[in-house]
Amino acid sequence: MAQQDNQFKRLVSHCKEYGFIFQSSEVYDGLSAVYDYGPYGVLLKNNIKEYWWKSMVQMHENIVGLDASIFMHPKTWKASGHVDAFNDPLIDNKDSKKRYRADVLVEDYMAKIEAKINKEVAKAKKRFGDSFDEAQFRSTNPRVLKNQEKHDAIGKRLANGMRDNLADVKALIEELGIACPESGSKNWTDVRQFNLMFSTQLGTIAGEEGKLYLRPETAQGIFVNFLNVQKTSRQKIPFGIAQIGKAFRNEIVARQFIFRMREFEQMEMQFFVRPGEEMKYYEQWKAFRLKWHKTIGSPAEKLRFHDHDNLAHYANAAVDIQFDFPFGFKELEGIHSRTDFDLTQHQELSGRKIQYYDPELKESYVPYVVETSIGCDRMFLAVMSHALTEDVVPDANGKESTRLVLRLHPAIAPIKCAVLPLLKNKEELTDKAREVFNKIKFAFDCQYDEKDAIGRRYRRQDAIGTPYCVTIDFDTLEDNTVTIRDRDSLAQERIAIDDIVKTISGKIDMSTLLSQL
Ligand code: ATP
Repeated sequence: MAQQDNQFKRLVSHCKEYGFIFQSSEVYDGLSAVYDYGPYGVLLKNNIKEYWWKSMVQMHENIVGLDASIFMHPKTWKASGHVDAFNDPLIDNKDSKKRYRADVLVEDYMAKIEAKINKEVAKAKKRFGDSFDEAQFRSTNPRVLKNQEKHDAIGKRLANGMRDNLADVKALIEELGIACPESGSKNWTDVRQFNLMFSTQLGTIAGEEGKLYLRPETAQGIFVNFLNVQKTSRQKIPFGIAQIGKAFRNEIVARQFIFRMREFEQMEMQFFVRPGEEMKYYEQWKAFRLKWHKTIGSPAEKLRFHDHDNLAHYANAAVDIQFDFPFGFKELEGIHSRTDFDLTQHQELSGRKIQYYDPELKESYVPYVVETSIGCDRMFLAVMSHALTEDVVPDANGKESTRLVLRLHPAIAPIKCAVLPLLKNKEELTDKAREVFNKIKFAFDCQYDEKDAIGRRYRRQDAIGTPYCVTIDFDTLEDNTVTIRDRDSLAQERIAIDDIVKTISGKIDMSTLLSQL
């Protein structure tokens, strides 16, 4: 646990120190759960979006794109159920005046029990060595069994309470003796529902009529445009609409860095299918999305499916792709079979017919929807947390030293190539290096850097994940060749200046990555 905490702290400070992510409005002490992407962050984020967009839109002839507005007619959110049911259960501590999500307080308590169990297992593993059978130990050790039973009983009671008995969630918090993490006080208010939508007011209309919401998900922009898109793109079912855009949620528990933000970006695709065929596509999209994660380099053991225990009111099947973040396995992406709920709701509230005429069946129907929905920021966090590693490598004098290296897939690395003159104060070298930079800058993101010793410059590029460094030395002046250094293998090769673009392009190419899907 402590090791995970340290790993997470290191990641957060790395993101700041190297210009990936800053706290929003930091000069005013920051705005909680809102973040800004710095120079390398914005490049990495754009590359993640490009990978998603191309894999969904460019690679599928039956998926088209959309960029809908953040503001929508307020009836949209009535129809979707967000006005009435997009709530989190909150509880206040009367002494500290701090507000918490009641379910998260209980889940944190459960996580402590789980940590106790894992500690017990780890201890036994150490004691028994290779002969240790973890499954058997978990199913027979009395202490583990007792804790597991307690854990599961709390989980079950929480799920029931969340469904229709918030008074019992409060009773559970009191029975477990959960105290306010800030003050240690156990003086709690009742648990009440809190709507997560941010609202604002349209300038021209006073009162409730002019109340607008900042969209809490991008999906509804796709649903209300279903007919516009279907007709203008002449798509036949099954087909999908993809969108990347901002979403806003007034999250009560705002922590874990960019995992849970109040303003974030979603990458969503709604796939419209014939009623009754949704499970076939649900399985197909589950498989495709998991492969998408693995192809960009997320290891299989850090990914898992987690079926929803309680289905949302609109879904007939739902699964999360969870990622093993530094704070444990958590939702990275959701895949939901949303039935015809949304389109039917919009049809009813708008009074317009939102149906598809199926030329093969010769009938009209409201299509069913399978959606894949991933937070771009969570993907950023997943990629960064896996990529940031510490290596022991030889330094310039052949001695062992540790380096921080960001092992991003080269296709999404912010900077693809750094151009480095061997020495700063030799004009012939810096002139030549600038010439090289100006020659290759059209092909991909490059960076010219002459400050500090070459070894330190390599380290700086390693820390931002630059896959290739090109060094201009005295031989370059003679024969127009440079050394190209590989971030991961540290191998250095001599190549002609004219071959730099070709050599690097082959390795950072997004289309090669896409072809592996
Ligand atoms: P959670 O249970 O973690 O609150 P959710 O189930 O409400 O998430 P969805 O409504 O399914 O999330 O949204 C789809 C995706 O959007 C999530 O898988 C996640 O990657 C991302 N997402 C949701 N809320 C946030 C947030 N507050 N900050 C960053 N990303 C988010």
